[in-house]
This record gives sequence, C-alpha cells and structure tokens, in this order.
Amino acid sequence: MSPPKLTPMLQQYLEIKEQYPGTILFYRMGDFYEMFFEDAELASKVLGITLTSRSHKDDANKIPMCGVPFHAVSGYLGKMVKAGYRVAICEQVEDPKAAKGIVKREVIRVVSPGVTTEDQLLDAKNDCYVSALVLTKKSNKELLAGLAFVDISTGRFQLAEIAYPHNNPASLVDTFTRMRPAELLIAQDECKQLAPITEQLSSELGQLCLTPRPDFQFETEAATTTLTEHFKTSNLAGFGCDQFTVAINAAGALLHYLHETQKTELAHIKQLTPLHQSGYLIIDDSSRRNLELTETLIGGQRQGSLLAALDATQTPMGARLLRRWLLFPLQDKQSIEGRLESVEELIHNGEIRRNLQQLLSEVYDLERLCSRLVLGHGNARDMAAIKTSLAGLPSLHHLLAQCSAPLLIQMTESFDVLADLHELIDAAIRDDAPISLREGKLICEGYNEELDHLLLLLRDGKKLILDLETKERERSGISKLKVGYNKVFGYYFEVSRAQAANLPEDYIRKQTLVNAERFITPELKELENSIITAQDRRLELEYELFSEVREKLTEQDHRLLQTAEILAQIDVLTNFAELAVKHRYCRPTLDQSRSLDIQEGRHPVIERSLPPGRFVPNDVHLDQEAQEVLIITGPNMAGKSTVLRQTALIVLMAHIGSFVPAESAELCLVDRIFTRVGAMDDLRHGQSTFMVEMNETANILNNATTDSLVILDEIGRGTSTYDGLSIAWAVAEELAQKDKLGVKTLFATHYHELTDLAATNSRIKNFSIAVKEWNDTIIFLHKLIQGATNRSYGIQVASLAGVPDHVIKRASEILKNIELGEYTPQGEPKIAKSAGRKKIAPQPRQMALFAPPYSPTVDFLSSLQPDDMTPREALELLYKAVELAQKE
Ligand code: ADP
Repeated sequence: MSPPKLTPMLQQYLEIKEQYPGTILFYRMGDFYEMFFEDAELASKVLGITLTSRSHKDDANKIPMCGVPFHAVSGYLGKMVKAGYRVAICEQVEDPKAAKGIVKREVIRVVSPGVTTEDQLLDAKNDCYVSALVLTKKSNKELLAGLAFVDISTGRFQLAEIAYPHNNPASLVDTFTRMRPAELLIAQDECKQLAPITEQLSSELGQLCLTPRPDFQFETEAATTTLTEHFKTSNLAGFGCDQFTVAINAAGALLHYLHETQKTELAHIKQLTPLHQSGYLIIDDSSRRNLELTETLIGGQRQGSLLAALDATQTPMGARLLRRWLLFPLQDKQSIEGRLESVEELIHNGEIRRNLQQLLSEVYDLERLCSRLVLGHGNARDMAAIKTSLAGLPSLHHLLAQCSAPLLIQMTESFDVLADLHELIDAAIRDDAPISLREGKLICEGYNEELDHLLLLLRDGKKLILDLETKERERSGISKLKVGYNKVFGYYFEVSRAQAANLPEDYIRKQTLVNAERFITPELKELENSIITAQDRRLELEYELFSEVREKLTEQDHRLLQTAEILAQIDVLTNFAELAVKHRYCRPTLDQSRSLDIQEGRHPVIERSLPPGRFVPNDVHLDQEAQEVLIITGPNMAGKSTVLRQTALIVLMAHIGSFVPAESAELCLVDRIFTRVGAMDDLRHGQSTFMVEMNETANILNNATTDSLVILDEIGRGTSTYDGLSIAWAVAEELAQKDKLGVKTLFATHYHELTDLAATNSRIKNFSIAVKEWNDTIIFLHKLIQGATNRSYGIQVASLAGVPDHVIKRASEILKNIELGEYTPQGEPKIAKSAGRKKIAPQPRQMALFAPPYSPTVDFLSSLQPDDMTPREALELLYKAVELAQKE
C-alpha cells in the first residue's frame, strides 16, 4: 500500500518536525497546540489527554493526534519537560487572514529540562543548568574531560577541565553532582563511547536529559568561533579561559545549542568563567550526602538538611547564592574573614539588619526577571515585579552606607540603585497590566501623547462628537445644528433646509430629507475615523511602547544583574547574622595553628529538632601532637554520629563565612572534609555496603592530607568481625601517622579493641559518650568524655527500642555465656546449648574476638612428652600441673 498523500498542513508539520529531531513538536493551530503521529501517542500518555485521530480518506490511514489549548500551554509544557522531554514550540508567524495558502509557521523556541525560563519549571532556590561534556584521552592512564554549564535563567556560564584516571571518574562525577545539571549535551557520534559515564551520571543525578548534538559543533574551530562571535572578542584570554582546550569545545557546543533553541541573542550571557576546582574546601559527593548538606540522606528532602537550617534568606537569589556558597566553601582566610566581619557588624547593628531584611523581602527574583526580559519572554507583570524590587533600593543603599565592614563598604560603592530604570518602568508600565501583551492596558496614561489621545477617544468618543457639535453651532451660528448617526455614512450634522444656505463652505451635503439636510465635514469624518480605529491602534501602540521599554531595560541588563548579585550577597550575610542572633552562634577564630578547638559545639540541625535547651553541647579538641585521632566509643544512640557530624558542619560553616553553633571555636583552615558515615547500602549502584565503605575509605587514605578533617563512623562493619576490626585498626593507625604528621580524625567505633591503640600511639586518644546505668536500663547523657568505655549496652538499647522482653531475656543469657567464655572445641561460643549450664561467677566483659582465653596449665600440659618420662617424673609434673591450675 502506498503511503497516504499528506495534506499541505501535515507536510509542513513534518518538514518542521524534521528540523527538530528529538523534540516533541507543539504545532499551533488556531487556539490549540496539536501533536501528531508518535508525538501524539507519547504526549497523550505523559499529559493524560485523549488521543484522537485525524481521518485521512480511509480508516487505515488515520493519523493519531492530540492537542492542548494555547491558554493552558504552560502547565502541559511543564509536565512534558519535567518528564524529561524537549518541546519545540511552533507558532503561526503570519496572520491567518492574510495568508495565501497554508499559514507560515516557525519554531520560536525549544524548552528542555535544562533550558527554561518558565516559572513553573524553575525551582526558585536552585540553579538550573544545562551542561556539555567532551572527553579526550590525556595519557595512557588518564582521561581529560571538558565541561561547560549554563543557567539560562540567570546567564551564568562556566567551564572546567578535569583529568582523571581511566577507572575512576570520581572527580568528574563530583563536579556534576555539585552542579546538578538537568540536561547534558554530548556529540552524537560519541554517544556509545560515553555511555558508561553518562549512565553513571544519570543514576547519580536521578534524572538527566541526554541530548545528542552534531559532532562538528564540538570541534575546536567551530566552538571557538561560536564563543568569540557571541562575546564579540577575538579570543577568550580576557575571560581567563585560554588555558582550556577541551572545555572550550564543550562551551562552544553548548552556546550553539542555546542560540538554536532560544532564537535570541542571549545578551545576558556576558562572560565565561572558569568553574574553579581549586581555592575551595573540597567535600566530595559522598561526604556531601553523608553530611546532608543540601538534602537528607534518606528521602533526599531539602527539609532536614544543613542548607534548610541555614536558609532564612529573603530572596530567591540569596537562597541560590547560599547554596553555591555551601557547595563551594572558601579556603582563603582573607575572604572568609571578610564575610565574618560583615556578619559581625550586622549582628551588632540589629536595626540595620532588620531594616535590610524588610527591604530585601520586597525584592523579587531580579536575576531571572532580567534574563526573561533579555530573552524576549518578559511581560508587563515581570516589569512591575522589577519595579517593586527596585523601589526599596535607595533606602537599602542608605542603610548599607552606614556600615563599616570592608566587604559591605565595597558593596555600597558598587551598588547601583537603578533609579533611572525604576523611573522608566514607573512612568511607562501599569501596575495592573495583564500577562498578555496584545490586549492593551500595559502603558500608563501620561507616558505617550498619542496613546493618551487614543485612550481619550475610546473613553470619551461620544463626548468629543458632542463637543464638535457645540463648536460647529458657534461657527455656523445655527443653534439648532445637531449631530446624528446612521449606518450608511456614519456621523453627520443636520440642519433645517432653510438654514442650510448659511453653512460654512467646508460642509459637504450628503442627504436631503423633507425638512432637513444632512452634511459632513472633514473634521467630523477625521474624528469619526479616529474613534473607529482607536482600539486597534491603541493595542498596536501599547505593544510598541512596551517593546521599547523592554529594549531600554535590556540594554541595561548588566546593571540589573550586578545589583542582583550584590543583593544576593547582602541577603546571605544578613541571613547569617540573623541565624547567629537567633540560635546563639559564635564567630569562629581562624588561625594557622593546625589545631581545632570547639567549646560547647552543637549540631545545627539536630539542635533545632529538639526542645530548647535539650541538646547537650560538646567540646572537641584536635591537634597534631597529642590528639590527632580520637577514637570515640559508646552505645548506639549515645550521640557518636552527632558529635562527629557537628564537628564537620561547624568547620564547614566557618569556611562559608557563617558564625557557628558553639560557645567558642578556634579552627584551622582545612583543605578537605572526608566522611565515611553509616552503613547505608548503595542500592542505586548495586554495590554492597562493604564495597561502598571500602571505596570511601580508600579515597580517604589516598587523598587526605595533614590539613584535612576526617570523620569515620563505624568502618569495617560491613564484613566479618575479625576482618572489620583489623581494617579499622590499620586505618586508624595509618591516619595517625600519615605523611608523618597524621590527619585530624574523629573515629567512632563499636570495636572496643581499638581503644588499645591509644596505648601505643601518642597521637591517638580515647573518648566516649557517657551513659548512666539506672536499674536495668541506661540513660543517654550525650556527653563526650575522655577515656574509653568497654560496654556497648546493646541489649539495653534493644530493650529501649521495644524488642519484646522474652527476646531481651534470652539475649542476656546468650551474652552471659559468651562472656563466661564457654567455647566449643573449635573455639566457637556455645551459644545455644549452654544457657545456665555452667555456673561461674559472671565477669562482665565484651566478647573476646581472637581466641579462647590463654591457659598456662594447658600450655604446660601440651608441652609434655609422656613416653620419655619415668613414673616419678610423671608424678612430679602432675603435682606441678595441679599447682598451675589452682593459680588460674
Ligand atoms: P550514635 O551514633 O551513637 O548511634 P546518634 O549520634 O545517631 O547516636 O544519636 C542518636 C540520637 O540521640 C539523635 O538522633 C539525637 O536525637 C540524640 N542526640 C545525639 N546527640 C545528642 C546531644 N548532644 N544532645 C541531645 N540529643 C542528642
């Protein structure tokens, strides 16, 4: 059967569709966006809308189709994009009435998970990145990845190069998990080759829309041209990017994609900045997750993370900046002190702080509003939001000018209050403007003379005609001249036949009746014409004026963006000050001592989940001489993890310039924070607990330096007790002596044997979390104290957790048997059989791990050679054995 002959409309559809492979085409037809063929089948499922068909001669050739109404498109668009699809929006670009044949249509933009400015798709508190990746071979052992990231909603454009060993892409994955792009571009021909890494990235990021792009766009020449043409520069040296080779290719391909999909100049993308890999405190992906910096370990919720606890920012820009600060903590003392100094001033000056916060709360997302304008999507409401945001800036500037912290002074000096832009919007744009740009009601009266006249015509058209009537009565001297209207020739002046002769010359006769005559004048016709066309002209003029204002603002986008950036910083700094006041945080002292001394430290998140005053603060001291590695023991639930994590979080908070939850904190700057926390199965990657644990441990041992902080919680649990203990022991030893100086480490463990390490290594000290025994149960004191504990109170904790009494009782019996050292000849504890069989006074101690207890008698007896003895010797040796046994 020959394929059906398609209508011209479907032919046009298919032609356009072919130009946008890999997208769903929303094809505008009147009041609907229609989808056809496979797109319709897919979209009907994703959007939950009815699949119909367009009949095509016979039933066998029916074409599947579905559609969404244009006025509700953003919701459907949002659904499609959230489900990971890219949507090309195809509009009618000529007036259907004026079209000869089929209406001309064009794709006006492509919306995808990583490239969007739609409010519904953007999370106000997160950046939304699209990324590109190019991978090349650096040496036999190493690969070099070139990466680029753009957030089109803010114009931020960054690139990076990462060299990594063939078999370990951790550093690459780490950058991706930090940036969390929603979409990744790769060269079409590389798809297969890159599959292992893109699959890993997809699984790490949860959802990643993969977009293959033509290979040539990733070639150096094409990429460089795209970039230099965009930035209108001859090379990229001015951006500090000339050392990059492969990253430039990624950046060029990325920009090409944006030009192609957005169909605008992207004027708000003004610079390309290196995404610095150095100069920041490094926290790898697993540590970020373990410490729950931006989301919780279980459930991936923002609520419960450090970010949520630290975020009381007033603006979305501030919230996003805080997130970036948290993911890229500073390492430079001067910059950190700069932030701390500002926070301190804002703490002491409560009035300024509160007023700043009040003014900031009236600021909208200036950064994204500005980008929308530049991309040509901004409407009058966006402008009104910009105006509201700018209104308080002079007061904000005034407050800031009263501050004396160097960073705040610097901001005051470069703070542009944008008064001219505020004035422009205020004069031009109506506060009650609608979303649509074609319905009028956009522009204020008094802004443009012609528009004012049109509005007058529309409002007072009838009155103007009557005014003319009065004027003409006076001019003609005929007091009975009156204006009238009929459908044939519109407005006219009517006078009696007798008076007609007295009319001025410009009166043109139109109709003669029995007693009266009807005339028109050029002025009357002009006025009539203006009234009739006023509405159309008004709509057109308002749109023109609006576009002019938008253009004027777009020309000043660099000023808007700079102010937005400063506002974001002020927001985060006042936020830190507010937190410090509200939750009693102290200013950390940063020194070069290489030691770390926290007095009465608290966990910033757990503290707030408990009633006030219930969190027990703890001191932690680490130094390179006597307390490099702390072995921390204590029962489950005592608070080991909490003290470990709070130490890491306090150090991290200091590095972002925040005050910290403690009475005092003298801290050295650290280069990395490593954590190995909990025994969570990494089910996403199908790796066993133990494998994950050992990967993380290997990473720590290979990369930790004397300037790092290491948090180890329960390592070695994922394997047998003996293996686990041996590994934990060796790891602790290694950390205490790594690179001769050791690494600052907090090591929580259940292996009480590890506490023996302190006896042999002067840098290792034992600590424990205190509990109080009371009757048959225990009370958690949550207090970190010096010295080891030798009991883990597992059974008491199980009882507190609600394990049934009879099971607890049986467990206690078994524990007793083990503690009494009842072993089978094979050296295994006689757990099941021996309950209550052998009554020996109980000696509470933990299970001996290595072997049955040493016995001198047994040792002595087994050394004897009975065949070589005389009876007398045998008797003497027997007496000796009895004597030995009695001593045991
Ligand atoms: P562990 O690691 O020893 O098993 P966690 O650190 O997980 O114990 O603490 C268990 C629970 O005890 C926490 O969820 C918290 O509710 C409480 N807790 C821990 N430390 C403290 C503290 N310092 N003050 C008050 N409550 C605490």
